Amino acid sequence: MEVREADITRLEVDAIVNAANNSLLGGGGVDGAIHRAAGPGLLEECRRLRGCETGEAKITGGHRLPARHVIHTVGPVWRGGDRGEPELLASCYRSSPRLAVEKDVRSIAFPAISCGVYGYPVEQAAPIAVGTTAAFLEDHPAIEQVIFACWGEDVYVAFQRALHGRV
Ligand code: ADP
Repeated sequence: MEVREADITRLEVDAIVNAANNSLLGGGGVDGAIHRAAGPGLLEECRRLRGCETGEAKITGGHRLPARHVIHTVGPVWRGGDRGEPELLASCYRSSPRLAVEKDVRSIAFPAISCGVYGYPVEQAAPIAVGTTAAFLEDHPAIEQVIFACWGEDVYVAFQRALHGRV
């Protein structure tokens, strides 16, 4: 596992994860960036998926992205932390790589799911992301590389701290 300050749309990995919304029909933030970089074929493919439940994931091709696959997951909207948000966020970090394994993905990149418009405090989200991913990797050695693609200094610092206990 590694933490990088990076635009996830540029990463040359087998799969990137998209922090999507329930409709899977595009939005702002990382979702918008991924759809812009992938081109209209991605939206067309997403339309056929008929949405996605919070905490779950669906997979498409990468279209014009360097990544072969996009795994669309829907994180929880932050409502104070006692509405099941931690469990739903952890579920995103399990359901996404589960689809990756089915497609023989060896390298995968995650954005900070829910930490933008959905308002999840990143210092609380980062340990869930890192801890859940570490547990998944123990059971699935086929995945060789995980990149947490951080957009912005605060996200980068929180993920570094979660992974290494320091900056
Ligand atoms: P959500 O609705 O799940 O909160 P957002 O897309 O609003 O999703 O934000 C999730 C995280 O993705 C935020 O930390 C945001 O800064 C980050 N982000 C936005 N664009 C990119 C990008 N191109 N690459 C990586 N991360 C990005």
